[in-house]
Amino acid sequence: MSRIAYVNGRYVPFAQACVHIEDRGYQLGDGVYEVCEIRDGAFVDERRHLERLARSLAALRISEPMPFASLRHVLRETARRNRVTDGLLYLQITRGVARRDHGFPDKPVKPSLVVTVRALDRKKIEASAMAGISVISVPDDRWGRVDIKTIGLLPNVLARQAAKDAGAKDAWLVDEDGFVTEGASSNAWLVTKEGVLLTRPSSNRILTGITMTVIKEVAASLQIRVEERAFTVAEAKAAAEAFLSSATQTVMPVVAIDGSPVGSGKPGPVTMRLREAFHRRAEIGLRII
Ligand code: PMP
Repeated sequence: MSRIAYVNGRYVPFAQACVHIEDRGYQLGDGVYEVCEIRDGAFVDERRHLERLARSLAALRISEPMPFASLRHVLRETARRNRVTDGLLYLQITRGVARRDHGFPDKPVKPSLVVTVRALDRKKIEASAMAGISVISVPDDRWGRVDIKTIGLLPNVLARQAAKDAGAKDAWLVDEDGFVTEGASSNAWLVTKEGVLLTRPSSNRILTGITMTVIKEVAASLQIRVEERAFTVAEAKAAAEAFLSSATQTVMPVVAIDGSPVGSGKPGPVTMRLREAFHRRAEIGLRII
């Protein structure tokens, strides 16, 4: 079955899914995106993802390409047409097509909307979680507004590639004071020897993950204390457990940082409890297919 994308008003096979060369997303990275998990035929935390999308659009003064009720219909229809029950939904909105110029177009243009879905191999992700993953630390050289979920991801791309080149799965980004900001496409967490969860508080230096927000609720329901403060790489290496969070990986154990094992060098018990409890706390939508 060929994959179907939604592109500016039409559902089209991937081979025909094109945007204009003067789309400002293509030329200037002038756009925002969201990634939402699809599990057992339903969207996970769709409401929160759409709320964050609205905040990202507002921050960049990009208008909504359609009312959010219609957008939700498009998301459903794209998932349905691709028959994806376990995977991810990708949604991208750019400022639209205009003659190349850095400033916003004088006459407002219609924002471009692209939606795709992709199946994910849940067994493979589960196997990864059972083994845990390794990360490397790299300098965080991104811009100052990474709280906005923009498609301008070059530093994140280079960080992930540096991890791959080093034989690791992911990269944790480190600010100029030596504190971890977040992962290349995830939030970073520790479990201290005292059993306290540590993660960096929301600010313009991290993207506040939807998964992160839900994990805080999960932790509260499990009576696990959460402390929101930045931690260093040395602290991470000396922690009892470490993990990262994102919509597609939920809670993913990190068992090595820069080649040093974290804790026992195996996924930790607190991490696995959070992973196991996550979907009981997340908002699971109605089944699409
Ligand atoms: N930080 C960054 C830089 C990300 O790209 C992501 C994933 N989109 C996250 C954090 C985690 O966000 P979420 O839990 O909403 O997927």
